[in-house]
Amino acid sequence: MKKYTLDLVGCDHAKEYFISALNGGYLSHAYIIEGASGSGRHTLIKELLKAMACESDNAPCGECGCCVRLEAGVCVDVHVIKAAEGKTELTVDLIRGIYDSVGLMPADIPFKAYIIEDGDKMNRSAQNAFLKLFEEPPENVYFFIITTDAQALLPTIRSRALIIRTERLDREQMKAVLDKKGIPDNKKREDAIALSNGCAGEAMRIYEDGADAVKLRDAADKLIKALLSPGLDKLSFINVHQKNIKKTDELCKVYALLQTALRDVITVKLGATEQTVYFTNYEDAEEYSLHISDSAVIKTNDVISELLSISDVPLNPTLAITEFASRVWDAHLI
Ligand SMILES: [Zn+2]
Repeated sequence: MKKYTLDLVGCDHAKEYFISALNGGYLSHAYIIEGASGSGRHTLIKELLKAMACESDNAPCGECGCCVRLEAGVCVDVHVIKAAEGKTELTVDLIRGIYDSVGLMPADIPFKAYIIEDGDKMNRSAQNAFLKLFEEPPENVYFFIITTDAQALLPTIRSRALIIRTERLDREQMKAVLDKKGIPDNKKREDAIALSNGCAGEAMRIYEDGADAVKLRDAADKLIKALLSPGLDKLSFINVHQKNIKKTDELCKVYALLQTALRDVITVKLGATEQTVYFTNYEDAEEYSLHISDSAVIKTNDVISELLSISDVPLNPTLAITEFASRVWDAHLI
């Protein structure tokens, strides 16, 4: 009998579900893969498709024609649907294009797969056109909608697909992924991990182009130190910002880092795991956790989410820096 495995680090729930669905023969024809950008959504789909298509008894073998083509991303039966260059919306025409090929027999592997990138960018008529495919799914066709937010999809789409979530990885899991990708263990990699918010794909991107990574991490370190050191006041906290951050986009990146650090602090407080993402040592996170109350760390984290959600609006850097600093300072005192 065929035996299935999925070679994935982390994403335990998704992995467990797909392995039992493969072994039990109850895969659904439609999945919504929800998770942060870089959190392994594409890797999950790729590994799953390999397992589904593989000709070996121990699937995926990584060596048969199906595995090799899927790994290399050159399988003609896998169709990736995404917004046109420079466009933010997935239009109804793109979805209608699926109708042209969906009924044709697969050529490379035993089925066809359609991957909808940024599925939440399908406009309403595109989603409605898509719905028709869902309602009468052709045989041997699988749909994967990739999204950061399944709630942005129509309820009718959500109710006809299974939602599978990818999860953030902890430091050790990230190291395992980056080891697998052959990325050497050095300071640059450490910074990329800290900046990645638990998303391995993001860590890879930062590692590859990350000249700024060190600078941003350094700024975030200084903010955390200032925020969680006893005896500092609001004005000094704002000063630390002004000294280390000059532009709004830098501010947002540093705040995203600060949020990762706060999540570590929450983890420590809950005693949930001995793994941190931002802090290289668990002890450092533990030390900081002593200087902030449980409710303050949650409140500060919420305020940062709020601030980051308005950061798409063009902001005057000086004003933004002062506003962010001031609101975060107040939140952390609760
Ligand atoms: Zn194979």
